[in-house]
Amino acid sequence: MITAATTLAAVIGHPVRHSLSPVLHQAGFASLAVDWAYAAFDVAPGHADRALVAMDTLSIGGLSVTMPHKTQIAQCVGRLDPAAAALSSANTVSRDVDGTLVGHSTDGDGLVAALAAEGVTVTGVECCVVGAGGAGRSIIDALARHGAAGIAVINRDQQRAEEAARLGRGNAWVAESPSQAVRQAELVINATSVGMEGGDTALLPVDAVDLRPGQIVVDIVYQPRQTALLRAAEAAGARPIDGLGMLVHQAALQQQIWLGALPDVRAMRAAAEEELARRANNPAG
Ligand code: NAP
Repeated sequence: MITAATTLAAVIGHPVRHSLSPVLHQAGFASLAVDWAYAAFDVAPGHADRALVAMDTLSIGGLSVTMPHKTQIAQCVGRLDPAAAALSSANTVSRDVDGTLVGHSTDGDGLVAALAAEGVTVTGVECCVVGAGGAGRSIIDALARHGAAGIAVINRDQQRAEEAARLGRGNAWVAESPSQAVRQAELVINATSVGMEGGDTALLPVDAVDLRPGQIVVDIVYQPRQTALLRAAEAAGARPIDGLGMLVHQAALQQQIWLGALPDVRAMRAAAEEELARRANNPAG
């Protein structure tokens, strides 16, 4: 029950109507038995600075930040944690004891935590990251911090690929031959929006012939859950992992930042799966 003592957290984005964050975070707060509630605010592009003022004025306890506000928030908060500073992008805002608003980035660490939950370590592993947007950059940064053996970067825009590879602490490079990079990798991660609902869901971000048995293939796209890439990975004898785990774990890490405790990720995942099933059965709702 929401009372006058309840602390509010929220996601800001545009559009934000179909965000799974409220469902995930409500389940997380319930698992921690804290008096927090979570809402979604549609904030027009360019107005993220006003959302930070509102956060202060309304004593909002924590903000999740999604497209297109991650860069502007990183510019407007009082301080950035090291991952957010390296990326110049923040997906989380917390309030320090002295009232300073602090920007964090949990996307890349969320993927690493999701893989760990599947029994997959990235330390010492040859990786290939396809995509150099916000998510791809945070994943390259996290893989490098967690000791990946090497990170081959593939992206349509070569300049963005080079900028992203620079986040790899000397251990990432732009792949000269995408085909060879995918074949050689033990862990292949799609961090592009290729295959996402709303676009051509039959499209593949890599050539299916380059996938092979023994590989782990992650698609961070989670709508649809079963992407064309994951089906191709399975057909090639590779192990497919979908993007819902990353979504759940990056949200759990946000709650750890706000509350100092990790929520029950299984309860959060179950709530997200239930909501996705509800939407699949009721596309108009
Ligand atoms: P973004 O910053 O807009 O980057 C988009 C990326 O996709 C860029 O690398 C872009 O390449 C590439 N791309 C787009 N269309 C392409 C096409 N037709 N062919 C080849 N490459 C194409 O977006 P983002 O925030 O990184 O998000 C990327 C995807 O990850 C989205 O689907 C998002 O929903 C998903 N995501 C999932 C999670 C999760 O928790 N599972 C978290 C964050 C994001 P160029 O640079 O060449 O344009």
